[in-house]
Parts: sequence; C-alpha cells; structure tokens
Amino acid sequence: MNRTVLIVEDEADLLKALVFNLRKGNYAVRQAMNGQQALREVLRAPRPDLVILDLQLPDMTGLEICRRIRADPTTRSMAVLILTARGEEIDRLIGFEMGADDYMVKPFSIRELLMRVQALLRRTTQSYAETSPQVIRFGLLRIDPDAFRVWINDEEIQLTSMEFKLLITLLERRGRLQTRDVLLNDVWGIDSYVRSRTVDVHIKRLREKLGQVGEYIETIHGMGYRLRSAP
Ligand code: CA
Repeated sequence: MNRTVLIVEDEADLLKALVFNLRKGNYAVRQAMNGQQALREVLRAPRPDLVILDLQLPDMTGLEICRRIRADPTTRSMAVLILTARGEEIDRLIGFEMGADDYMVKPFSIRELLMRVQALLRRTTQSYAETSPQVIRFGLLRIDPDAFRVWINDEEIQLTSMEFKLLITLLERRGRLQTRDVLLNDVWGIDSYVRSRTVDVHIKRLREKLGQVGEYIETIHGMGYRLRSAP
C-alpha cells in the first residue's frame, strides 16, 4: 500500500517540484499551501504517514502546526519533516523541541529529501514490530512496541516516533555505550550529515518526558549515552 505524504509549502514552484518527485517515488501525495488547509489535510482520511512542513506559512507557523499534530492523540505518531529557510542553530533546536522528527534547510537537494522521507517512513513502520513483538518491561517502564505505547508506573506518556525509536534502541542495547554517531546512524538512519546535537536534543526531551525513569539513561561524557543494564 502506498504511504501518504502531506506537503505543506506556500512556494508554488517548490511545492510543484516536491509533489512531482514524491509521486514519482510512488507515494500518495496531498498538498496544502497554508496552515488552515494543512490542519484539515492532517485530519482527513487516510491520515498522512508523514508531513513535510514548511516553517514560514502565510497564516501560521509550521511550528504551531507541528505542536497541534503532537497534541492530538490521533495524529501524534505522524512523522514530521520540517523545511526551513532559516539556518540558525537556535531555530533548528526549536524545531526539535516542537516535536519534529527531522528538518532540512533550504535550499536542499530533492534527492536528499527523498532519502530522508524514505528513512522516516521505514522506521515508523517496521522496526518496532520486527524486533520486539511483545510488551517490554524494564523497571518502572513498560513498552508495547506494536501499539506504540509507553507507560511509567502504569501511567501512559506520549512520545514522538523518534523519541520512541530512540528509547527502544537504547533499551535493546542496555548496558552498552551508544555513541552519538551510532545513534544517528541507527535511529535516524542518516550518516551523511553531521548533526550530533540532534541526538543531545532528543535525549534531553526524552529524559524530561520519562521523569524519574530518565535517570536510566546515562550520559557518557564526550562519547554518547547508555541505558543502565538494570533498572
Ligand atoms: Ca514559506
């Protein structure tokens, strides 16, 4: 079955190029040119599997749209790829704080974008179910990989798809150091771009959401991260 990609972009030429190339890549493509359209398309069946989201739109910011996608339980697990014309680090971090899974700075190559889309969709479908068919328990933590659900002390918490994948990866390799490069490669699936700060930002957010369980994730200074071998 074709995966559905929603493109939210107000630059007509770029939108056209993205639609053309994603259709060629066999995705079911939908499009929106402003925030209102985008929010309607996000909720319309079949729900998009991935949203390519420009940050600067005429009626609202992409960050606001991203925040709403993450706030709604029925859209929360959608992959979100941010497009931004602004290259400053601070904006990138804000993008991740808002729950985006990845971002690209304009101008970007369409080929690179297609690779990122493919990587994002690959990890939101297969990986969890393939590697861990049952409920995982680790100390106060309980994870149902198939249902994409996480509980701490029997209280459910909401993670984005990337945070979820990061947690599962650390858990599967508990007791072993995972360098930023290894995590970038295995969780994000992209090794062409050095963005080790991305890992730090996601770990920080994951720890915050995990509360006391966040202590299970240890920082190995200057190297990377490790989940304790025992809770
Ligand atoms: Ca724009």
